[in-house]
Amino acid sequence: MELFGTSGLRGLVNAGLTPNLAVRVGMALGTFIGKGKVLLARDTRFSGLMLENALVSGLLGCGLGVYCLGVLPTPVLAYLTKRLGADAGLMVTASHNPPQYNGIKVFDGNGMAYDEKRQEKLEKIVESGDFRLTEWCNLGETKYGDESQSQPYVDMVLKGIKLGKKWRVVVDPGCGATGSIAPKIFKALGCDVKAINAQPDGFFPGRSPEPNAESLKPLAKIVKAFGADIGVAYDGDGDRAAFIDENGAFVDFDRVLAACAAHVLKKCEGGTVVTNVEASMCVEKMVEASGGKVVRTRVGDVYVAEAVKKFRAAFGGEPCGAWIHTEYHLCPDGILSSVLLLKALEDEGKSLSEFVADVPAYPVLRKNVRCRSEIKDAVVGRVERLLKRTFPDCRLISRVDGVRLSLEGGWVLVRASGTEPLIRLTVEGESLKTAEAIMDRALAAVNKALEDLEK
Ligand code: MG
Repeated sequence: MELFGTSGLRGLVNAGLTPNLAVRVGMALGTFIGKGKVLLARDTRFSGLMLENALVSGLLGCGLGVYCLGVLPTPVLAYLTKRLGADAGLMVTASHNPPQYNGIKVFDGNGMAYDEKRQEKLEKIVESGDFRLTEWCNLGETKYGDESQSQPYVDMVLKGIKLGKKWRVVVDPGCGATGSIAPKIFKALGCDVKAINAQPDGFFPGRSPEPNAESLKPLAKIVKAFGADIGVAYDGDGDRAAFIDENGAFVDFDRVLAACAAHVLKKCEGGTVVTNVEASMCVEKMVEASGGKVVRTRVGDVYVAEAVKKFRAAFGGEPCGAWIHTEYHLCPDGILSSVLLLKALEDEGKSLSEFVADVPAYPVLRKNVRCRSEIKDAVVGRVERLLKRTFPDCRLISRVDGVRLSLEGGWVLVRASGTEPLIRLTVEGESLKTAEAIMDRALAAVNKALEDLEK
């Protein structure tokens, strides 16, 4: 059984993720840490309090103290875990997933998300049921904080960032965890703020908790009507941000990531930028032109954060809108992303559409091929050899996540889906024609590998 995935534990409430499982995760974490204090927060999901109470129960039973902070964004919880000297942080969230889901994400005392190794250790304890419960007289205690507990985070942002212009900003927290803190920070920075979907509501009635071009159509209209400079939206737990420009257009995730990476590198005169294998090659184009280099990781914010730390990178980010601002902390932070983007626009004297205009837009093609889950990994392994033969001009092969070939004028990525019986193909090309040609040849290689293995 694999409980924890690339972004903590996720599941359908009272199907995969029950109070029983949450109490066992609480006891497993208590057993793993042994003693100390755990900070706990949740997003606005309807099931949040049910899971929080179960986690608290498990932790108290192991003698740990728990400090419950209520509804807060994930990056705020991560920051406070380190800042308040806790031994771990627990976030109850399913991020951008639909309302019937929830999840548990674990942070260490440095505010870093638990990596695979530590997640596996927790999993083993959950499975074995080998919990170290304490004697009745040593049970932990619970403290409850309120929103004022987030003040050290607000101070950190306001101390680090000053804006000269009175920006007109429409903020859309999507009824998630950023509803109160994000508008407050923009106001404190002197912006003219209009907030929509800022009321906490675990049914997410305003829009899907996943910000994308489709779910942000209403925000785009309001940005135009309000004559705003920017529209900012977050996912359910606030580690991702997405943007609408001053013309009311959704800003492409890859291009704004590349523009911000280039801006950071210009300021620190080169350095490393970390992104995942799925991001557009426009990131390399912009980063290399600014004297930096790109390191690519597996998909998942934990991997990006690890690489950021390892390579002492200047900036890290995934094209889903989860960016890491290394000067502040190592948890992807949507609020910081949006505030720092405004600061970048101000420094460069540009509007948001002008800021991304220099970044090339390349066509991306995606295809899924059905494949039995048992042979997915074998197919990807076999495809590697076939792809090398298909593309003899290949410049670089990466196996950090599936197989990724960098080609003249484009790239192809073949991955086994983590959750479905599918092989996923992603292709990017400098032109649509190039992308289509790469896709045709890569698809033929995948089909051939499938055929060979099904023989
Ligand atoms: Mg998230």
